[in-house]
Amino acid sequence: MAPPSPTLVWLRDDLRLDDNPALAAACETDAPLIIVYVRESGPTPRPPGGAARWWLHHALAALGSALLARGQRLVLRSGTAANVIPEIARSAGAAGVLFNRRYGPPAAVDSAVESALRTDGVAVTTFKANLLYEPDEIRGPGGPMKVFSAYWRRTESGPPPRSPVAAPVRFPSPVDGIAGEPLESLALLPTTPDWVGGLREAWTPGEEGGRRRLADFVDDGMDGYAAGRDFPAEPRTSRLSPHLRFGEISPFRILASLGVRSGRDAAKFVSELGWREFAWHAFGNHPDMATANLRPDFDAFPWVAPTTADLDAWRKGLTGYPIVDAGMRELWQTGWMHNRVRMIVASFLTKHLLIDWRVGEAWFWDTLVDADPANNPFGWQWVAGSGFDAQPYFRIFNPVLQGEKFDPDGAYVRRFVPELADLPDRFVHHPWDAAPLELQAAGIRLGRDYPEPVIDHAFARQRALAAYAAMRAG
Ligand SMILES: Cc1cc2nc3c(=O)[nH]c(=O)nc-3n(C[C@H](O)[C@H](O)[C@H](O)COP(=O)(O)OP(=O)(O)OC[C@H]3O[C@@H](n4cnc5c(N)ncnc54)[C@H](O)[C@@H]3O)c2cc1C
Repeated sequence: MAPPSPTLVWLRDDLRLDDNPALAAACETDAPLIIVYVRESGPTPRPPGGAARWWLHHALAALGSALLARGQRLVLRSGTAANVIPEIARSAGAAGVLFNRRYGPPAAVDSAVESALRTDGVAVTTFKANLLYEPDEIRGPGGPMKVFSAYWRRTESGPPPRSPVAAPVRFPSPVDGIAGEPLESLALLPTTPDWVGGLREAWTPGEEGGRRRLADFVDDGMDGYAAGRDFPAEPRTSRLSPHLRFGEISPFRILASLGVRSGRDAAKFVSELGWREFAWHAFGNHPDMATANLRPDFDAFPWVAPTTADLDAWRKGLTGYPIVDAGMRELWQTGWMHNRVRMIVASFLTKHLLIDWRVGEAWFWDTLVDADPANNPFGWQWVAGSGFDAQPYFRIFNPVLQGEKFDPDGAYVRRFVPELADLPDRFVHHPWDAAPLELQAAGIRLGRDYPEPVIDHAFARQRALAAYAAMRAG
């Protein structure tokens, strides 16, 4: 009897064995298996930035090893998916191709792949894997939803999220002889300079790293999440975002791991996962969200052309506002930033410096290990006021008060802005108010060891409000 034709599983932002419905379905048959990852050429999907490429390299390495230990091989290729996937399927004589669905612009790539395969007579099966609710599964009376609370309520009356599917125990035989490329040839790692030392220290990319982080969070971190999640000095949030970004852990697995836990902390945590769902709901229904204002009235906003000095000060964490600088340096050193501080630094860029949110979004895209095609533009538009259910533009964070409220003893600032480490608590968020002797005792010469503020808060606030009024006046 002729052996069954092979099945091809195409992995993308779902770099895991656990709760991977496409992989699980392929492993339920005896058809020989080909597992492929394509490093796709841009512009769709949006090419990952530098920090995310570093993560992707290690995620692929980890997955490749996990598959090898199970007698499988991860075939790596680069190019245009609409060429590469049908070409492999054709040369291997595959009867079926399975993949987990994507949303936003990459969905169009997937449709092109699917129609090329169908033309060749190859069956295509797709699965829901990375979102609890797909963008078109939740609808309001007027179509896609724009208000988070209404969206989240509506999901509650929908079908409950399924249980996660365990990692396959048994794999079919692999197909030999499929040409692949070595991981190094995908050129995902930085060469010179090697700026990823801090990333290496902070993270363990890969499914196992994600699993451990989830277990630690559920065992130790979750209690107190609701009250503690806004304080950046404390390890109160899960830090699962890069693992979710690359699909090393599934949201269904996260929900299941909360088990019988209920109450304020678990509910708050699940509702934060809900914001991720909501961002993807917006992205699926507005695929140009990374470049176009969700609220078209913001097309008339009078952003200023960024000066190199302002932009450099913001990017390097040298604005003279300690909480902003700590956040920007945390980002540069670790590839991640606490959510509260993301809001503060984004507000500073768009409201104090009047710089277009797209400029900040692009910097985050390049420097965050969790840079996410939906969450990142959604977060920026939320802060800028141009997004759905957004913070109103006229609500302008005072970086000193934000620092005093959410980093009361300055522990976060001291960690990332060591030149301020010896300032007394009462000045750590506004060193310019310290007396000369106090500055001297802390070893700081303002303007030399640490900058004076690049802009006065009261002035910036009035200027931002005037710009907003000008937009509204048309
Ligand atoms: C300007 C700006 C840019 C952002 N860019 C990104 C990004 O590129 N990638 C990204 O994953 N998140 C982004 N966020 C959302 C949020 O800051 C991060 O998801 C969160 O800080 C990740 O830390 P955590 O995993 O410890 O979160 P936890 O508090 O433990 O939350 C668990 C998970 O819920 C999701 N989540 C939490 N808060 C949000 C939120 N506000 N919006 C959407 N999803 C959320 C994340 O997937 C997160 O991993 C951005 C927020 C802002 C304000």
